[in-house]
Amino acid sequence: MPRHFQESKLVIASHNPGKVREIAALLQPFGCDVVSAGDSGLDEPEETGATFAANAELKARAAAMGSGLPALADDSGLAVTALGGEPGIYSARWAGPDKDFNVAMQTVEDKLAGKDDRSAHFVCALALCWPDGHMETFEGRVDGTLVWPMRGDQGFGYDPIFIADGYDITFAEMDPMEKHRISHRADAFRKLVDGCFRE
Ligand code: IMP
Repeated sequence: MPRHFQESKLVIASHNPGKVREIAALLQPFGCDVVSAGDSGLDEPEETGATFAANAELKARAAAMGSGLPALADDSGLAVTALGGEPGIYSARWAGPDKDFNVAMQTVEDKLAGKDDRSAHFVCALALCWPDGHMETFEGRVDGTLVWPMRGDQGFGYDPIFIADGYDITFAEMDPMEKHRISHRADAFRKLVDGCFRE
């Protein structure tokens, strides 16, 4: 049984205000006061893990130890089957120093040249760490296919080339509410809420 979250305050181990707002809204029904790692003066540790879960865990642990409060961290990315799971934990880095995802998507397409298998999935790992070191980790995913050229202008990252199984539009063409319902992040949050927050 995962440990139940009973505290009144939680640190989100992210310096991305959009992400903090989204997570705060998701946890609001559970009466939990949310603060960001940035507001708590916490530094971001280097993401040296070999997996999404390891990176989420090292970020959650650093924030919990630095703040003395329970901390939640996430790590996510795209795994392409024919590329052995690349870009994986390097999904953000493939966009280069200018964070240009047109470059990242072009790199994926170039590497896929001549390959029949265009399947891929997004992964989201969520780690919740308490100040005593106890950790609960959950992983969500959404499976799909990569298309070319890019389609749509909503969303972010690799959304314009990803079509989830059962759909014929990319994540970037989809109503954001619908994406939030079926995404890897939604899947991971459902598991977190079921495991640690729901009575
Ligand atoms: P991070 O977990 O915030 O470090 O994000 C890792 C990278 O994975 C992002 O910069 C995106 O490139 C990619 N990624 C994660 N989730 C999504 C998504 O829902 N759509 C598109 N790209 C994503």
